[in-house]
Amino acid sequence: MLVFANHLGHLDATGRHTHLLRDWSGAMISGNILYPPMEMLYAAAYLRRQGCDVALVDGSVRHWPHHRTIAAVLAHRPSHVITVSGWYNLQDDLAFLGALKTAAPQVRTILAGPNVTLDPAAALASPAVDYVALGEFVDGVDEIVSGRLARNVAFRADGGMMVRPFAPLDPLDRIPFAAWDLVNPRDYWVPFARRYPFALALTGVGCPHGQCAFCHQVSYFGEAHRSHSAGYVTEEADRLLARGLREIIYRDQVFTARRDIVEALCRHLIARGRPLTFRISTRVDLVDRDLLALLAAAGCYQLSLGLETFSDAALAWCRKGATVADGARAVGWAKEAGLEVSAGIIVGLPEDEPFSVRRMLRLLRERRIDFPQFFVLTHRYDRPRRAFVPVHDHPAALREQQRRMRRLALAFYLDPRYIARQAWRFAKVEGLRRLPRFAADFIRYFW
Ligand code: SF4
Repeated sequence: MLVFANHLGHLDATGRHTHLLRDWSGAMISGNILYPPMEMLYAAAYLRRQGCDVALVDGSVRHWPHHRTIAAVLAHRPSHVITVSGWYNLQDDLAFLGALKTAAPQVRTILAGPNVTLDPAAALASPAVDYVALGEFVDGVDEIVSGRLARNVAFRADGGMMVRPFAPLDPLDRIPFAAWDLVNPRDYWVPFARRYPFALALTGVGCPHGQCAFCHQVSYFGEAHRSHSAGYVTEEADRLLARGLREIIYRDQVFTARRDIVEALCRHLIARGRPLTFRISTRVDLVDRDLLALLAAAGCYQLSLGLETFSDAALAWCRKGATVADGARAVGWAKEAGLEVSAGIIVGLPEDEPFSVRRMLRLLRERRIDFPQFFVLTHRYDRPRRAFVPVHDHPAALREQQRRMRRLALAFYLDPRYIARQAWRFAKVEGLRRLPRFAADFIRYFW
């Protein structure tokens, strides 16, 4: 029996906690935003097809302390337990697996995630971890459970560390549809979803650009973009519908990398009477007016774009491969199609214009960005060394960028005109009952 454990993150004596996506992003989520552990569900389906008994314990969505999640995991009498780490959570993940090992020393523990893919030694230095599953962990976990240990894994051996070759899974259709029977989709909530219950899904992984200075995705998914077939993607949507799910949040980094597959999915959903709403993320140079109109006609309501900044010099520094004008054009087409726009904005990029809240608010409002997601650049990815390198020489410089980012986020989201517009939007969608708690968490996080 293999158990996937999604434990609550960063517990401390005061009870403060966070939730993690536990996927390629390695992201920690502010507030009580609750995503289903999608990559675990795909991996569980794959392992199940290989003949393995699987279970999933989601202590995060239940706000369980570690000991309670561990008790629930051990109730399944597992031979192996896997969890997925994130950029800010390794110590907490090691503490979780260490406590599990203390309670059940015979259990073999597996850690996956983008941070331990780049640095498996950091995980294997702890006796809490027996194996690291590298990159997209579907195949690595299979290698561990089957005992082959030939690829996509790292482990201790002969007093050192053995790292097996990284081999991305291809074709991607070898991964079955995610095992949604292992969770209750009604447990999960994100503030921008239109309809509940929603699912997360992938039509493809990786990125055809793969060059952005801050992006590590090549180390997790490999150099090439890989896509499911059109048949897989349309059948997955049908199956999610049949299961009662009413919305799909596609977690592809670049959903429109394969135009033929996007068009096939859209035509399929339109022919079925537009039964789902969905949200996508992509690059600004991989959309056009016709494609965005087709997406909107098929039920897409929100497009997330990595705008990053409003400076061409800063975009060139981060090797984005797109210009400010490309971003403005993509947002304009999205608005013409009636789509909401979410945009990643990085505060403090080298070569950027001098920071000004007023200037940023003006640009965001001119572009009619609905949901900017603000980040601070802390590290850049050094491809040859496969390592992240700090961008700020001094902690004070980083703290200043974080302070600016918080000021900008609060100024944008607490603007009374914005709140009035969005209150109207949220009044029309489901999930309203959890909004007050999210708003309180948001203010606490950014204040
Ligand atoms: S476009 Fe997105 S996924 Fe591709 S390299 Fe840049 S940040 Fe990464």
